[in-house]
Amino acid sequence: MTDPVLRTRGLHKSFGALVATDDVTLDVRAGEIHAVIGPNGAGKSTLIAQICGTLAPDRGTVTLDGEDVTALPARDRARKGLARTFQVSALAMEDTVLQNAVLGALGARGRPWSFLRAATRDRNLRDTAEAALHRVGLIDHAATHAAELSHGQRRQLEVAIALTLAPKVFLMDEPMAGLGADGSKQMTSFLDGLRTEAPILLVEHDMDAVFALADRISVLVSGRVIATGTTAEIRSNRDVRTAYLGE
Ligand code: ADP
Ligand code: MG
Repeated sequence: MTDPVLRTRGLHKSFGALVATDDVTLDVRAGEIHAVIGPNGAGKSTLIAQICGTLAPDRGTVTLDGEDVTALPARDRARKGLARTFQVSALAMEDTVLQNAVLGALGARGRPWSFLRAATRDRNLRDTAEAALHRVGLIDHAATHAAELSHGQRRQLEVAIALTLAPKVFLMDEPMAGLGADGSKQMTSFLDGLRTEAPILLVEHDMDAVFALADRISVLVSGRVIATGTTAEIRSNRDVRTAYLGE
């Protein structure tokens, strides 16, 4: 079997006396959606933060495509293909969808567009940005201002920006949050198609979405992985049903 694209080994993080992640070991393989589920406060967001590099673990390692990236800052991990999406607030709302995608492709998001106007005339950047918008179904909205997009469309734009950087793996923290039933359904089918671009580590509360999408599931309770398995295995796991599904 090929090496996993992403691997954590013993990621440990305490906040004072509170152990937020307790030696978390998991991997994400090519082509899969690996969901991480668990109750509020289980350590899911803390885990994502350590993987993408915005939070330093007390101990443990993060490996991307066989390379230990634990010592790298978040920006360098992102350049190497660790794509954290759905930080919707990072979009430039007064800029168009295409401008946001071009800024993303430039690695210049967060900079005012007025300084970078020439970039939309760069043929390569524009082609890359347009291909990504096409891929997520936003190409018809290229000239729309980001502020006018729906919540779900903003998330698709975040994914498009990640795609311009040729991600090796997507990290997603609750992409269904704030979407209604229809929005969740659309996002589910969107994510389903996305796994062929890059595998996904998916933190999600919406169990319908998790069971529909996940190839494998890890269950986090009080910072500890209590089970990892296929979706069928996790659904029938007695400990999981007791600890998390409340049965
Ligand atoms: P989840 O995403 O699974 O809901 P979090 O990873 O956000 O859980 O939080 C795990 C635990 O760590 C919680 O008890 C939370 O209060 C605590 N925690 C998270 N971040 C901090 C922090 N910066 N300082 C202190 N405690 C934190
Ligand atoms: Mg969280």
